[in-house]
Amino acid sequence: MAAPQRRPVVVVLGSINMDVVVTAARLPVAGETIAGDELHVTPGGKGANQAVAASSLGAEVRMVGRVGEDAFGPMLLEGLGSHGVDVSRVASDPESSSGAAAILLDADRQNRIVAVYGANMRCDDAQVREAEAALNGADCLLLQLEVPLETSLGAARVARCKGVPVILDPAPASALPAEAYALVDVLTPNQVEAAALVGHPVDDVDEGLRAARELLRRGVGTAIVTLGDRGTVYASADAAGHVPPFYVEAVDTVAAGDAFGGALAVALADGMGLASAIRFASAAGAVAVTRPGAQAAMPSRDEVERLLRG
Ligand code: ADP
Repeated sequence: MAAPQRRPVVVVLGSINMDVVVTAARLPVAGETIAGDELHVTPGGKGANQAVAASSLGAEVRMVGRVGEDAFGPMLLEGLGSHGVDVSRVASDPESSSGAAAILLDADRQNRIVAVYGANMRCDDAQVREAEAALNGADCLLLQLEVPLETSLGAARVARCKGVPVILDPAPASALPAEAYALVDVLTPNQVEAAALVGHPVDDVDEGLRAARELLRRGVGTAIVTLGDRGTVYASADAAGHVPPFYVEAVDTVAAGDAFGGALAVALADGMGLASAIRFASAAGAVAVTRPGAQAAMPSRDEVERLLRG
């Protein structure tokens, strides 16, 4: 009888947010109050979304981060827990609000957003120490840029010492210090983020490959540039290429990148080769765009495998 398969263990250090979305026929002008249509309170944050994506695909996920000691804090933790994410290493910060975004949407889906990073931006050495403990026995560390860069880099240094591979989704777009490239095994910008890093437009496959090669030259082990419905390009020391997208009917592209990131972590932690892992992650991104929402849109392993089988 085959031995039961070990679940891959993914540590996510990143943001945990609540989105408060109000829809109305139109957006109010300054000083005006109007009646809206609907209110939706939905959990988000790139860290939390990627944690849910990895958990939905069968990984054991250990989340590290901070929420505020406010009404949203327990709701955010409960939500992550309901998706099977271990939140025992998420701190509750009495001196801060939770990360939240107020989003106004009009009938044409035009939006106005104010994001308050709150407790996320108060992550510090305490989270690096939590990550250090969480990394024992882990297969990979998954990072983004919605907590202080110094905290992410601190966790990456610890992972490097422990021999745990580091995946960084450099979102939202920003420049990175030279050390970050050296600490990262896999960097996964989308085209906007890649353009911000390399300083030239990344609007097609050729420009994506050029960007991936430049990121490789800066020191990452593998650069993967996601190009939305144009698919994905990658470059590593011994391979480079384009992985075409899976054809799906896109309904809401909000969390495609987060589904991709969480799935890539699971696939690499599972020991898949690079090209297969990117195909797996692409399938997860494709399933996520067929449904509205972020965490609610994350695919199961069955759904991804069905799309992979065609
Ligand atoms: P982000 O959400 O960070 O901008 P992308 O839009 O590049 O990320 O999407 C990540 C990945 O998800 C893509 O590389 C692709 O594989 C998949 N994907 C995204 N949008 C679509 C789509 N409309 N159809 C099929 N696959 C998609």
